[in-house]
Amino acid sequence: MVEKVIPLADHRYASAVPIIPADLTAPIGSLRDQLARPLRDLRISVTDRCNFRCSYCMPKAVFDPRYDFLPHSSLLSFEEITRLARLFVAHGVHKIRLTGGEPLLRKGLDQLVHRLSELRTPEGQAVDLTLTTNASLLAKKAQALRDAGLQRITISLDALDDAVFRRMNDMDFPVAEVLKGIEAAERAGLGPIKVNMVVKRGTNDHEILPMAAHFRRTKVVLRFIEYMDVGATNGWRMDEVLPSAEMIARINAAYPLEALQANDSGETAQRWRYRDGAGEIGVISSVTQAFCRDCNRARLSTEGKLFLCLFATHGHDLRALLRGGAGDLEIASAIGLVWQQRGDRYSELRAAGNDTATGADGSGPRRVEMHYIGG
Ligand code: SAM
Ligand code: SF4
Ligand code: SF4
Repeated sequence: MVEKVIPLADHRYASAVPIIPADLTAPIGSLRDQLARPLRDLRISVTDRCNFRCSYCMPKAVFDPRYDFLPHSSLLSFEEITRLARLFVAHGVHKIRLTGGEPLLRKGLDQLVHRLSELRTPEGQAVDLTLTTNASLLAKKAQALRDAGLQRITISLDALDDAVFRRMNDMDFPVAEVLKGIEAAERAGLGPIKVNMVVKRGTNDHEILPMAAHFRRTKVVLRFIEYMDVGATNGWRMDEVLPSAEMIARINAAYPLEALQANDSGETAQRWRYRDGAGEIGVISSVTQAFCRDCNRARLSTEGKLFLCLFATHGHDLRALLRGGAGDLEIASAIGLVWQQRGDRYSELRAAGNDTATGADGSGPRRVEMHYIGG
């Protein structure tokens, strides 16, 4: 079976160089994993750095000035990202999300957006290209991103109250700048705009209703995200998770809601709309209602490792294949094999009371951090 293995050491997270199968097969856009899940959504982390220190993602105590971020030479170049993205698209990916860290910190990102916007699915469609950002630099960059071919955007905003927001990003960054970024994205025609709010009980759950009120009757779709136990540094505790059912109950009491159908199988958010016609919201119940069954997402880390689950402890080192001289067919075949062997379903296992599989109890290998593989 094994024809060629190109070794490369990794000092950060456990990873292995994927096996290139002996029988090379060109992608036909219909890969399935062990649970019959297709590969549809690729999230690409373009930097592991960020100018915020949200406590649930990059707590200051860990990500301090001595933290060893990746050197520039470790990052995938735009050529490398585009080459891999093309192979993923050939395998059936039709949605690409650029993320990080803070993606807008990566220099010349609009050039990458332009290259990715030119990709076509096997059916000849443009890829659904989007980006998740903290919006701190968006007011300056929205138009260039749109001009480069970005279609839509997701913006993270955890509170409208300036003091709460400054505390949560832990860099004293004002909420007004994020709101300017949202306006710039609207002006540039990036839409629909989604705003993600991570809800931590006791920290910003009192901001749920003000956020709902602010974005009602706008084109922005606000999505409330349960605080997740991703990574190993955020000190996650279940009592800080506000279940999405409670979020919905609180909003429904002020502004009556009704459930909507999912747009797409594999969609992470459950959709709701205001009964008075004031728009749509979503909740992402990553903790209380596992959605592994339809999970069609793969993640490519900043240094080119493929992760099959947000809670994975090891990646598949595609950069080693790229830089070791493997051809497109070899890399595509290796990706195909990795996906076919995928059986990850961390959230479901945790819900069933078995979360030791990925080192959540601290005994196993280190879990990957969100800023490294992207949300
Ligand atoms: N820096 C960008 C941003 O914040 O939008 C992109 C990267 S960030 C890792 C992507 C998304 O992950 C953000 O919406 C963020 O709020 C979310 N996120 C990070 N840590 C999380 C956690 N522990 N639980 C839930 N969502 C989290
Ligand atoms: Fe940075 Fe985004 Fe993580 Fe906040 S959630 S620390 S903005 S990467
Ligand atoms: Fe997908 Fe892993 Fe999240 Fe389940 S836990 S939905 S497999 S990323």
